[in-house]
Amino acid sequence: MTVNAGRDPSDRQLTLLHELAHWIGPRPERRRRRTIHHDAAFYRIAFALYARHGIAPAVALAGEAARYPSCLGHARALGVPGAQAAWQARRVELRERARVRPAPRVLVAEHRVRLVRDGRWTRCRVCGVRVVGPVLRRLRRRGGSHILLAR
Ligand SMILES: [Zn+2]
Ligand SMILES: [Zn+2]
Repeated sequence: MTVNAGRDPSDRQLTLLHELAHWIGPRPERRRRRTIHHDAAFYRIAFALYARHGIAPAVALAGEAARYPSCLGHARALGVPGAQAAWQARRVELRERARVRPAPRVLVAEHRVRLVRDGRWTRCRVCGVRVVGPVLRRLRRRGGSHILLAR
């Protein structure tokens, strides 16, 4: 575990209380082979600690969200003052970011995959993409189509 204590006092206090919340909280749950360190149960403890130690909700939200944006949803559910607005603002920001991201360009339109050998590899004859592993096994069994996109 690495702890980066921030520069200004409230930031450092927030960081320490955050770690403290990990210590006193229940063991983190494992879901889909990933350990969930910052779930609702964690934030219930963390935001209560922040409040008890006199950290203003706005400071706690800003500090926490800078590292873990998902805290906003939990804070909102917990009724942390200002969390609803912060959560809303983040949703607008994410939607905006998704909107300005260009749609992927279609390099080769959707087509039926036709497998051909190419030395030790197998490729799709239509688009030239190399097909390996489970995808190759599935295509051999049932066939399928794909589309080639550029990002
Ligand atoms: Zn943490
Ligand atoms: Zn293809």
